[in-house]
Amino acid sequence: MSIGTEDNPLRVAIVGSGPAGFYAAGHLLKNKQNPDLVAQVDMYDRLPTPWGLVRAGVAPDHPNIKAVSRVYEKTAAHPEFRFFGNVEVGTDLSHEELMSRYHAVIYAVGAQTDKHMGIPGEDLPGSWAATELVAWYNGHPDYRDLEFDLSCKTAVVIGNGNVAMDVTRMLAAPIDELAKTDVADHALEVLRGSQIEEVVVLGRRGPAQAAFTNPELLEIPELTEADVFVDPRDLELDEHSRLSIEGEGELTHRRNVEILTDYSKRHPEGRPKRIVFRFLVSPMALKGDDKVEAIEIVRNELYRDAGGRLRARSIEQHETIDCGLVLRSIGYRGVPMSGVPFDETHAVIPNEGGRVLDPESQQHLAGEYAVGWIKRGPSGVIGTNKRDAQETVDFLVEDLHEGHLNDPPDPSRDSLEALLAERNPDVVSYAGWEAIDAAEKGAGEPHGRPRVKLCSFEELLEAAKQPA
Ligand code: NAP
Repeated sequence: MSIGTEDNPLRVAIVGSGPAGFYAAGHLLKNKQNPDLVAQVDMYDRLPTPWGLVRAGVAPDHPNIKAVSRVYEKTAAHPEFRFFGNVEVGTDLSHEELMSRYHAVIYAVGAQTDKHMGIPGEDLPGSWAATELVAWYNGHPDYRDLEFDLSCKTAVVIGNGNVAMDVTRMLAAPIDELAKTDVADHALEVLRGSQIEEVVVLGRRGPAQAAFTNPELLEIPELTEADVFVDPRDLELDEHSRLSIEGEGELTHRRNVEILTDYSKRHPEGRPKRIVFRFLVSPMALKGDDKVEAIEIVRNELYRDAGGRLRARSIEQHETIDCGLVLRSIGYRGVPMSGVPFDETHAVIPNEGGRVLDPESQQHLAGEYAVGWIKRGPSGVIGTNKRDAQETVDFLVEDLHEGHLNDPPDPSRDSLEALLAERNPDVVSYAGWEAIDAAEKGAGEPHGRPRVKLCSFEELLEAAKQPA
């Protein structure tokens, strides 16, 4: 019997409920090229809550970006969509168990850890991944108990990406502004007591190579309690950089340089905090006896490597910045999943356009797919995942038409529920999430906040049991 019909729906499991997973679900359930396709999507997440980094990554002062979840809510309302929250694939369910029940499994697990700098002192207390701070202030249950010491005067943020901008804003934002957001209460309390007066943002390459997008860079002077400093000498472009930003498609970089040039000309207004952008400097070591007390940095110059990429190399001019907090914001990193191939070099699931490849034979593994950051690495904005998911789903549907999907021995919907009930009594359905959502919004309303987040598994699971 052909797959994808009323009598034999295409059964797909999506592991991970962030943007990439939801865009993939949307394309499957409402497939414009194949309007007759009948698909059933079961989405799994190890958290009781959906939306991935839209909930746990996007900064609390960016509510407009979070509003994208309304699109995902529409997908979730489809009658053939089911959400299984608080279910960890790899622990509660194995890859093999999914493969024995679905025609296809799409991995949308994102990049769940961060990169390390590999320098002395990196493990000293006071040295953190920016992503840990992000997960903590966003109320991710795994990170709520982290203890950030904000009693120092200077924090150093390493990296020139949008996460660096997010954490910089969060450390410098007026507390009364943050108190109106959905920042986790435990973080708000610690941020309220923060003594940080200066945030120094370090880029290993120059302003023309910074990965910030323009709107994020433009937000920095909107922080009413902070002056912004850029040394004009840091903006003197070498020949390589000057030529590179003249190229087509370099608008963002060119504009970043213009914005930073504007900042370098501003006069400080005597605000209580300062944000300092430094370029062409790399961290060499974190110093301190039992916690971070300083960071040693070295000045760089740019050179073009054999592949034509502009890289930084040290010119052996060292400097030390006193600081008590260091946030490395140098990128997320994917983690392997049991039973699923993994490319250690690029920290992704090896794939071609989203079709998972057997590392040995380089052949497509029937019925196995990837979307989002675990497919292409941690790059792009939320909307990038729409095109990315479309590509994967198009290949999946092509494989369906060519008879190349997985052939599960037990594709019935009910067998899965029975297995889950055996393994985990606390599975959170979509209705359970709606109950959590209602509880959080209800708690926020009297305070003029979008929500007050529940930040522990216990609280979330309890709320999921209350009818919305
Ligand atoms: P990112 O954009 O890749 O930036 C990473 C930064 O770290 C780069 O400046 C990189 O410099 C630097 N870096 C890497 N290794 C380093 C090292 N060993 N020492 C010093 N610097 C190092 O990563 P991200 O900020 O984590 O963001 C991830 C993705 O999420 C991005 O696509 C970002 O745009 C997106 N995001 C978007 C938003 C938003 O739209 N508001 C918010 C947050 C995140 P090089 O360029 O020299 O490698």
